[in-house]
Amino acid sequence: MNGIADLSAEDLRALRNRVLGEYEAFRARGLQIDMTRGKPSPEQLDLANGMLALPGNGDHFTEAGEDARNYGGLQGLPEVRALFAPMMGAPAERVVVGDNSSLALMHDCLVWSLFKGVSNEMEPWSQQSGTPAFICPVPGYDRHFAICEEYGIRMLPVPLTGHGPDMDIVEELAADPDVKGMWCVPKYSNPSGEIYSTEVIERLAAMRTGAPDFRLFWDNAYAVHHLTPQRHEIANILELCAQAGNPDRAFVFASTSKVTLAGAGLALFASSAANVKWYLARAGKRTIGPDKLNQIRHVRFLKNIEGLHEHMEAHRALIAPKFDAVIDALDKRLSGTGIAHWTKPEGGYFICVDGMEGTAKHVVDLARQAGVVLTPAGATSPYGRDPHDRTLRLAPTYPSLREVQQASEGIALCILLAALEKHDA
Ligand code: PLP
Repeated sequence: MNGIADLSAEDLRALRNRVLGEYEAFRARGLQIDMTRGKPSPEQLDLANGMLALPGNGDHFTEAGEDARNYGGLQGLPEVRALFAPMMGAPAERVVVGDNSSLALMHDCLVWSLFKGVSNEMEPWSQQSGTPAFICPVPGYDRHFAICEEYGIRMLPVPLTGHGPDMDIVEELAADPDVKGMWCVPKYSNPSGEIYSTEVIERLAAMRTGAPDFRLFWDNAYAVHHLTPQRHEIANILELCAQAGNPDRAFVFASTSKVTLAGAGLALFASSAANVKWYLARAGKRTIGPDKLNQIRHVRFLKNIEGLHEHMEAHRALIAPKFDAVIDALDKRLSGTGIAHWTKPEGGYFICVDGMEGTAKHVVDLARQAGVVLTPAGATSPYGRDPHDRTLRLAPTYPSLREVQQASEGIALCILLAALEKHDA
């Protein structure tokens, strides 16, 4: 198809009428498909069904011979920390295993920094003179932004470049002493799918920050969630921070929510020795210890890091075709129109589409009327406001492949129709 900017007014109107007819036919199919949240499908959860019978009657002793049914073990079992150490990029002594949600760990770290400070030497963020602010790469994860909003942390959007955030802007913002932190999803980012380059990671580790108590919230949620045979690796933020003389700069988070069971996985934290000590001192006030039976269940099931990678291959076999289906539908309908571009992620859970400026809300509305529910437009920006009203986040993992194929056809149609209507307005 030709770029719509090149069409005559007459051709444009004819195309619009044809696309409207196709949209009406799509709507008449009465579909009901939810493409909003990046949840694993029931088939993905089934991959971990073997865990439901673990650790099994009587198998509740740790490698050290302790009874995992009882209180205690705040940092997590050594064998579990050793299992996930390679994924976290830290030795087992500097890994903490929490309960089931890494988002909860991020929330806790932020709240503790606000109310207790990041160390004994530093005033709590909330008691310092300015209003604390966070650098937020955009498009980003709506729940990160929601935590900031909940606690009155100002959000400073920074564009992503395809290899991580625009570092010239980040460095400029970080020089302000009120800027206390930054959200980063460094691999297969939510939702852009991008992988931070080594240069970006080196600059994040070494940049001058105005605040001595600045922290990178390094949310490596998709560390092992590959969509191609290539297991992309990124530079080790903890090592680079240490080399740059900023050993305490990064809090690293991850979880097995999208490895084993989304509601019953393990949440992980890793950082410098000082930060782990800080974390455990705070966490010890909040809990007497995590669910160690779930920790044992994970080691019995995954066994070792290779077992974990093999398990992720089974996920890939289920979800990669869904990503392909979305990209095929977008390619077929929108390639060459000049109205949209979209990511082709090599991992993670999302495809990000930038449609024509000023149309994203309308696309979401058109899709909803046709029975396809999309993430609200704006969700990928701080405060839910996309200044360009153009970014859409597509989450293809949960619906069946057939549903993803159907929904993607409809979504591509809605993107085209909204652009034609905008053009004609
Ligand atoms: N971080 C990112 C970037 C995510 O996309 C998600 C879930 O979609 C989470 C964290 C949630 O992690 P958890 O289930 O461990 O709380």
